[in-house]
Amino acid sequence: MKLACRCGQVQGEIDPARSYARATCYCRDCRAFARWLGGAGLLDAAGGSDILAMAPDGLRLTRGADQLACMSLGPRGLLRWYARCCRTPMGNLPRNPKLFYLGVPVAALAAPAADVDQTYGPPGRIRINPESATGNVLPTRMASLRGTLRIVRKLLAARLAGRSRSVFFDAESGTPVRSPEVLTLEQRRELAGRD
Ligand SMILES: [Zn+2]
Ligand SMILES: [Zn+2]
Repeated sequence: MKLACRCGQVQGEIDPARSYARATCYCRDCRAFARWLGGAGLLDAAGGSDILAMAPDGLRLTRGADQLACMSLGPRGLLRWYARCCRTPMGNLPRNPKLFYLGVPVAALAAPAADVDQTYGPPGRIRINPESATGNVLPTRMASLRGTLRIVRKLLAARLAGRSRSVFFDAESGTPVRSPEVLTLEQRRELAGRD
């Protein structure tokens, strides 16, 4: 499935076979990231981010890798990647490259919404951190639990298979290909204050 930033300078694809689950995350950090990026269409009406959880090696860039930039909300926070040309979110990863998790914002997919729904299921079937939503969101306890277990199971399987390569980490050193811009506490507070 095709991946592209809004302006088209960064392009790539993701392998649906490497996906774990589709989930909407209502946590404050995902929302702060979307607000920091700016632009419309990154959050749903209750402040949720539509994310595809997948194996990091399932994402490939075909052009514009030089536009990739990285930020983090804190010194230990997730590495949050985006296209600096137009500030499209591209992927969230743990700092440890041995954790085979990558969250790709559905906003970065270049496929029609119907194709995305067909391949990964409709949005909002799994809702994570609904208690932090800015609007009324019903929890999806069973679906969230099943989704979480599925992610953990697939993550462990990917780890056993030794698949650790991704475009975000240098294969030799295991360090991120860009050093993240880490926000100050003040910047974080300002973003959180917009709730
Ligand atoms: Zn762009
Ligand atoms: Zn989140």
